[in-house]
Amino acid sequence: MRHSLSPAIHNAAFAAAGLDWAFVAFDVRPGDLPGVLAAMGPLGLRGLSVTMPLKEVTAAAVDRLTPAAAELGAVNTVVVGPHGLTGDNTDGVGFVDALRPWDPAGCRCAVLGAGGAARAVVRALGAAGAADVVVVNRTAERAARAAALAGAAGRVGSAGDLEAAELIVNATPVGMEATPGAGGLPLDEAVLHAGQRVVDLVYHPLRTPLLDAAARRGALTIDGVGMLVHQAGYAFRAWTGLTPPLGAMEAAARRAIAN
Ligand code: NAP
Repeated sequence: MRHSLSPAIHNAAFAAAGLDWAFVAFDVRPGDLPGVLAAMGPLGLRGLSVTMPLKEVTAAAVDRLTPAAAELGAVNTVVVGPHGLTGDNTDGVGFVDALRPWDPAGCRCAVLGAGGAARAVVRALGAAGAADVVVVNRTAERAARAAALAGAAGRVGSAGDLEAAELIVNATPVGMEATPGAGGLPLDEAVLHAGQRVVDLVYHPLRTPLLDAAARRGALTIDGVGMLVHQAGYAFRAWTGLTPPLGAMEAAARRAIAN
């Protein structure tokens, strides 16, 4: 939590919107979460952003869930309303917004990984009308559960499916600075080519080995800041009722990552 970029992103958003609000990060143990949620109303707090490992325990503790949060079993945004706490998951819609103006409808997509981020992305690609959402993960059973979130478009795949994909998303931590084997690629770069979009959700570093390889091979590259900022934008809108100042939020995220 100490390393969360959310305070930088949301405080920049509040300042840009002229709101005298503050976003503060706390380290909360899972067992203390019910107490924190119960205190939100009395303290006058408007909402909460939730990060790993609290997303699932939060889903079980709020009063109601949006369809995305219910299907994923994970909450990244809590909104305080007159009738209690609503848990939402804005990661998937944030991811799809980060692809715009490109539209995944009718496209062949491949997602590497089957954890929390991958599940949100797979579900959102299915909901956006992707023709094919192939999940490639080292643990097959988790891949099957993730693929099911894309409905009829979802299936478990293998490295052999990647070359034909128009969109490839890395939702594993491979390429992250703090991960053993950093500097490595989550796929064989021979599958990358012009005409593909390659998204790396890893944002430490922003320019990952995967994005470098994709650019070398002529693919279009998209870094992890887009999803981060757009999911925060949905939270901002839910808490304030205002249009999120996405430009200020993205600038703050990029500044915070660079420091
Ligand atoms: P997670 O729930 O722990 O899932 C990690 C997934 O990666 C699992 O499917 C795991 O496979 C796979 N994996 C882990 N290490 C691997 C390795 N060495 N080789 C191959 N596969 C490996 O993590 P998460 O929360 O989904 O996050 C994944 C990444 O996305 C992290 O880098 C995180 O920072 C990033 N992220 C970015 C955003 C954004 O807004 N840009 C949002 C959320 C997350 P198994 O199932 O086999 O264990």
